[in-house]
Amino acid sequence: MPVVTLLGTAQDGGRPQPGCVKPCCSDLGPEDVRHPVSLGVMDEHGRGHLFEATRALGEQLSLWDNPSLHSVVLTHAHFGHVDGLGLFGRETLNARDLALYASPSMLSLIANTPQWALMVDQGVFEPSDVSPAQAWPLSEQLTVEAVAVPHRAELSDMHAFILRGPKRSLLFLPDHDRWDETLAYHGAASIRDWLASMDIDVALVDGTFWSSDELSGRSQAEVPHPPVVESLERLGQRKEGDPEVVFIHLNHTNPLHRPTSAESERVTSLGWSVGEQGMTFTL
Ligand SMILES: [Zn+2]
Ligand SMILES: [Zn+2]
Ligand SMILES: [Zn+2]
Repeated sequence: MPVVTLLGTAQDGGRPQPGCVKPCCSDLGPEDVRHPVSLGVMDEHGRGHLFEATRALGEQLSLWDNPSLHSVVLTHAHFGHVDGLGLFGRETLNARDLALYASPSMLSLIANTPQWALMVDQGVFEPSDVSPAQAWPLSEQLTVEAVAVPHRAELSDMHAFILRGPKRSLLFLPDHDRWDETLAYHGAASIRDWLASMDIDVALVDGTFWSSDELSGRSQAEVPHPPVVESLERLGQRKEGDPEVVFIHLNHTNPLHRPTSAESERVTSLGWSVGEQGMTFTL
């Protein structure tokens, strides 16, 4: 049975965030470090498929018991999701013909970025484009489907992914701009309807900011992500038959990083969860 491991729960900057001298990042011990979001997916043959290539690749692979890697899948080009790509090259992992799945827009950015293009020329990666609404198999028991979502697209577009195993389906949605736009784009009336239309059992969703107050001087337009308070308002209390919703991609300022915060308790009291580094989901 395929098993998904959450290898990081932080937003692109990680926790602690470089340069942050506020209480959120002061006095953090090694046990408080959170890597940028990525998923390790082990198929039924014990082959590893990595979603996102972060700079914490070494720690994330060891957290996942260093499986043999067969593919890498990328959602979009924002730095925390791709800044580990170079680690697959000759200087480090020295990968050969590793399948690299991404959208045509992301692959064209790779082809036009000299250090990444060189790795493709050297045979590190074997790029393969993924088109929305077209599922592809990673193994006999595991298929993946790209879902386009609106997210600021300076460098590439953004795709969430649905992983379907024999028992359950999981949505990986680390980033998007606004629920209004995402739901309208997919013609869904509510988060519940959208997840039900895709037959999702577990949804790992963008929980970057608890509320818009955390942006301190930066506007919602500059760094758009739906605040968790809005997601909770839209979801309300979890009901019988609802999927599991797990908040991930937490900014360093997000009180959900602390399991004992009132905000974390609010999420769990409504029946939803906060992602924990190392948690697993069997599909
Ligand atoms: Zn991100
Ligand atoms: Zn901080
Ligand atoms: Zn992003």
